[in-house]
Amino acid sequence: MSTEGVIYRVAGPVVTATGISPKMYDVVHVGNEQLMGEVIKIVGEYSIIQVYEDTDGIKPGEPVTNTGRPLSVELGPGLLTSVYDGIQRPLPILREKMGDYIYRGVSAPGLDHSKKWEFVPTVKVGDLVSEGEVFGTVQEGPVVHKIMVPIGMKNAKVENIKSGHFTIDETVATIGGRDVPMIQYWPVRNPRPVAEKYQPDIPLVTGLRVLDTMFPLAKGGAAAIPGAFGTGKTVTQQSLAKYSDAEIVVYIGCGERGNEMTEVLTEFPELKDPRTGESLMKRTVLIANTSNMPVAAREASVYTGMTIAEYFRDMGYNVALMADSTSRWAEAMREISSRLEEMPGEEGYPAYLAGRLSEFYERAARAKALCGQDGSVSVIGAVSPPGGDLSEPVTQNTLRIVRVFWALDTKLRERRHFPTINWLTSYTMYDRQLQSWYKDNVAEDFPALKSWAMKTLQREAELQEVVQMVGSDSLPDEQKVTLEIAKMIREIFLQQNAYHPVDCYCPLARQYKMLTLIKKYSDLSDKALVSGAQVDKIVHLPVRTRFNQAKYEDNVDEELAGVEADMESQFAALGA
Ligand code: ADP
Ligand code: MG
Repeated sequence: MSTEGVIYRVAGPVVTATGISPKMYDVVHVGNEQLMGEVIKIVGEYSIIQVYEDTDGIKPGEPVTNTGRPLSVELGPGLLTSVYDGIQRPLPILREKMGDYIYRGVSAPGLDHSKKWEFVPTVKVGDLVSEGEVFGTVQEGPVVHKIMVPIGMKNAKVENIKSGHFTIDETVATIGGRDVPMIQYWPVRNPRPVAEKYQPDIPLVTGLRVLDTMFPLAKGGAAAIPGAFGTGKTVTQQSLAKYSDAEIVVYIGCGERGNEMTEVLTEFPELKDPRTGESLMKRTVLIANTSNMPVAAREASVYTGMTIAEYFRDMGYNVALMADSTSRWAEAMREISSRLEEMPGEEGYPAYLAGRLSEFYERAARAKALCGQDGSVSVIGAVSPPGGDLSEPVTQNTLRIVRVFWALDTKLRERRHFPTINWLTSYTMYDRQLQSWYKDNVAEDFPALKSWAMKTLQREAELQEVVQMVGSDSLPDEQKVTLEIAKMIREIFLQQNAYHPVDCYCPLARQYKMLTLIKKYSDLSDKALVSGAQVDKIVHLPVRTRFNQAKYEDNVDEELAGVEADMESQFAALGA
């Protein structure tokens, strides 16, 4: 079998070669400059290659070499804090080698191969170990990086194990006759194995009220955030990165505008980890596709990110993976497909768009890892439909797969209601499965309270239609009260300022308290009406101002207790 061939044709990022007889997805080096590419189609003697680097000036007749290996990432200590391009080349090193433009033919390994890490063994000579089991640890910033037995080894005897400082390539253990270093390689398009997948019955707690209470995502689940430009996709994802109860964050940026990735690259390293006060990057891997990078690298980037996320899941960690935005990824697929002259599907996207999206999202899971501990990868994909039109193919295909939909709404943005998550069109299909967790961990009546709030908001939408036709004066008193209660749910509960030092994160117990108090206001209002109090007085009690402000106060929980006391005394004064 030949590994050396020549270029036959060049069409943008797609190069056709002859003479290399590859397997699908083999990585090849293309042209005199040895640009990296991947075989994505084989037609007879022709191998069609997507090239991760700029192909300008590459000509037919130049050499092509097949490595015989699939596109893989390097996994091991040093991943955290890294900023990569779509094929795991560290951006700071690329920049050092080539300035601000990505020139081509530069290879840079994903991990630092000269740095020494302190390896602490966790097994002894004579122990029997199998794939995925932890045999040692490395402290990597705030994270214990677990070194796992390579996949494929079963019941192998630990013949030698070291302790001390080693590079990732040095042997740290001899297991089953094999010298094992800390580094592992994994082909990005293949999901990493787990012992057992679990039902999604634990929420990913985010501290965002509208998400945790109304539309929760399960750990190991997948959510889509579609929204037009400027509606808050990036802000929401950054809040999730900071505050959700995931130990590891993988953030894949596919820039919408040229300068947007630059913002991510400058902003992200400045985000503070609320748990440690240090940089969030210490438990983050960032993958950035800047606009000057070729589309094929963008196509690969989501798999690179997912594989890294699975690797940390396999150590027993909860990982939150954000992709912002998956629309740019889909556009990369579309561009490559059109270069392949494939029959276009809807709006020019390839027919396999739906398949690729589901393969990606299906890698989200909570599972018993091979090491015996539980871990998860939760996926939050932003979608940026052109013109905010949710009927376009990427949004529609995504919604068929994910079970949580957080719909960002331009109208809410205009009203400066943040986060702009529309409570009428968003949904979660994890509701039932998460109910017992909320009952056990927050309050027995939490699901009932939440459905009361949702019903009140739906009732508000219906009443607003009536109000538009006949004005609010003609509404019966109890409906006037409903409108005011719905307003309290929106303004006090749903609105949450991502930039406010106190309000940016709201613990579940406080979410419950806030909603309980709104319900109490509603119940007391009903009673007051029955006993003849005036509706104007009921809805304009002074306690409402204090209630509106409470979430911004340093002593917010005391304030909420004060709100409750005020509410009781002010309603009592109404004679209710
Ligand atoms: P997108 O990524 O959808 O284009 P961004 O996430 O960049 O939009 O949000 C645009 C702007 O909206 C932000 O710069 C910010 O001013 C405002 N914003 C969005 N979400 C919030 C929020 N939760 N709290 C306060 N302001 C917000
Ligand atoms: Mg954005």
